[in-house]
Amino acid sequence: MDDLRNRLFYEQKNAYDLIDTAERIDAEKYCRAYMRYLNDSRTEREAVDNAILLAEKSGFVPYVPGMELKPGDKIYQNNRGKALMLAVMGRQPLSAGAVIAGAHVDAPRLDLKQTTLYESDEMAFFKTHYYGGIKKYQWVTIPLELHGVVALKSGETIRVVIGREPDEPKFVITDLLPHLSQDQMKKTMAEGITGEGLNILIGSAPYADEGKDRVKLAVMSILNDMYGITEEDFLSAELAAVPAFDVCEIGFDRSLIGGYGHDDRVCAFAELQALLDLKHPARTCVCLLCDKEEIGSEGVTGMQSEAFDCFMQDLCESQGVALRRCYENSFCLSADVTAAFDPLYPEVSEKRSASKINYGLGVCKFTGVRGKSGTSDASAELVAYVRRLFADRGVIWQMAELGKVDQGGGGTIAKFMAKRNIDTIDAGVPVLSMHAPFEVVAKLDCYMTYKGVLAVYEDKETAK
Ligand code: MN
Ligand code: MN
Repeated sequence: MDDLRNRLFYEQKNAYDLIDTAERIDAEKYCRAYMRYLNDSRTEREAVDNAILLAEKSGFVPYVPGMELKPGDKIYQNNRGKALMLAVMGRQPLSAGAVIAGAHVDAPRLDLKQTTLYESDEMAFFKTHYYGGIKKYQWVTIPLELHGVVALKSGETIRVVIGREPDEPKFVITDLLPHLSQDQMKKTMAEGITGEGLNILIGSAPYADEGKDRVKLAVMSILNDMYGITEEDFLSAELAAVPAFDVCEIGFDRSLIGGYGHDDRVCAFAELQALLDLKHPARTCVCLLCDKEEIGSEGVTGMQSEAFDCFMQDLCESQGVALRRCYENSFCLSADVTAAFDPLYPEVSEKRSASKINYGLGVCKFTGVRGKSGTSDASAELVAYVRRLFADRGVIWQMAELGKVDQGGGGTIAKFMAKRNIDTIDAGVPVLSMHAPFEVVAKLDCYMTYKGVLAVYEDKETAK
């Protein structure tokens, strides 16, 4: 009877029961490199810069339109410092389609407003406008650091990173003491901390002078000394406050990784590392690190932008291939994180369909909300393709559905790739506390995501 059960039933296994010591060591090595990348990449700009550093070390060069390309050539195109497209040219022409993996490198954060600096009751603050889906109460009373750029009228752009080094100051948003919180505690969690209440404390020492706003003046004078900027320069700045936690191992067994921005730099790094490890692929392999996914893939650096089409069209034209031929034969792995089942909050998930920590790469046939609305919904044939491929290549994976039916949901770049007539499927790392200032992933799931992307890149067949 048990034989019959084994033959007929689908049963998932924990990745720890499926891999050997050699692979555990490979996973550790991979995760160490990922932790370094994540620790140094706190914004989309930094994630792109650090990806370029790694790519150039592996022989990638900036793509120049009209450049002659031969199989094995490694190129990249930097989209305004916030998004990155990399490719390794395949042995087959682009009419055979490209193999694309797309992840995003933006993450929820607190953007400074353009008119941000103010003084109130002899303390100085930055006003913020949050970016992406956050639970506001999670962002108070944690150390914050400041990253971004100030673009000056002169055309010069000044980079700002403060709070990253141990001896640098950090910043914080205060919260009410419990003793005086009886009114606040009656509010819902959505209302307890408001968007306009997310004001960052940045100083308290007054300027040694008469007059008003002496603390603001003191802060502005420090900023002027450090960066040569005046208050007006904030008008053309992009500064973000992000959590100042270091990336670290979690658990006595060190099996998990805690850090800010796993969503979706954990998939971005998997794609990047897989592309860097490629040798002469059959088809052209493309790695996308996109921006603006957290706010709907909008803007020139988001996946709705034609920047990607221009890049692909340039490559196609160099081979006399029509872009639409390339797209219709292409395959895209939309690599984005999914919600891991959390035993502390079982009520929001449907256990049979939720992805589990340590069960490998989570494949989402569909995303969306309320009756799959807003999903591209990969076809059964496409799911069968990845089943076959992952089985052949020893990729441990699981089906993943983000939450119970009608509990909520989400989207990724998948639908924007599918809109281009590219066969697309979502897959990524299961995350605990997604979108929190400190998210958690499992090492083996990170490694299996890398293996999954590599398998897709190295496949000789087309997805069809
Ligand atoms: Mn994401
Ligand atoms: Mn997200």
